[in-house]
Amino acid sequence: MVRDLIAENWRLERSRYALLGGHCTSCNVHFFPMKKLCTKCHSDENISEFHFKSEGKLVEWTRILEASTGFELQSPYYYGIIELDHGIRVSTQITSITDESILEPGLPVKMVFRKLFEGGKEGVITYGFKAEPINT
Ligand SMILES: [Zn+2]
Repeated sequence: MVRDLIAENWRLERSRYALLGGHCTSCNVHFFPMKKLCTKCHSDENISEFHFKSEGKLVEWTRILEASTGFELQSPYYYGIIELDHGIRVSTQITSITDESILEPGLPVKMVFRKLFEGGKEGVITYGFKAEPINT
């Protein structure tokens, strides 16, 4: 199946480009990306937009040697789980790594806007966030 990247990019644009998630004031839960229903209480009445900070910390990481389709030219690369504020965890590529010995749990990172991949039937370039160590 060929992914319709134009539609997917359009649908995810605000979350992907602005670290936009949600906050349910009924049960005080934050979630990412933004959803119409709270992920805990399933209410749709007290949901507000929440912009997560671009700084976070590395939780876990791995080195990718055999890249999936669209990422072949980036191989090898690093992929990890990043914890943002309010305990929200996202998985993303880790960029600007010249020495992997710095990669360890708790490493401060910032989310940076980069080209993610190019592909789909239209050759669409998809942009979004990657994690970059702070002070490298
Ligand atoms: Zn809720």
